[in-house]
Amino acid sequence: MVIITDECIECGSCAEVCPEGAIHEGDGKYVIDQEICIECLSCLDECPSEAIVEQ
Ligand code: SF4
Ligand code: SF4
Repeated sequence: MVIITDECIECGSCAEVCPEGAIHEGDGKYVIDQEICIECLSCLDECPSEAIVEQ
């Protein structure tokens, strides 16, 4: 699964590139809806703080 860690600086870039609309603003960081994410990994390279990781 792909998750967003506390390193998130809430820039919003990942949400813009997600083809499934799986990323939304959360409480203090953005979050990925695991029910929607297809693990395409497009968001990983977009993050300026390397907050998106595959687990
Ligand atoms: S891995 Fe793909 S589908 Fe999942 S949140 Fe990132 S961009 Fe969206
Ligand atoms: S791209 Fe990275 S820093 Fe920006 S909102 Fe997404 S997870 Fe947070």
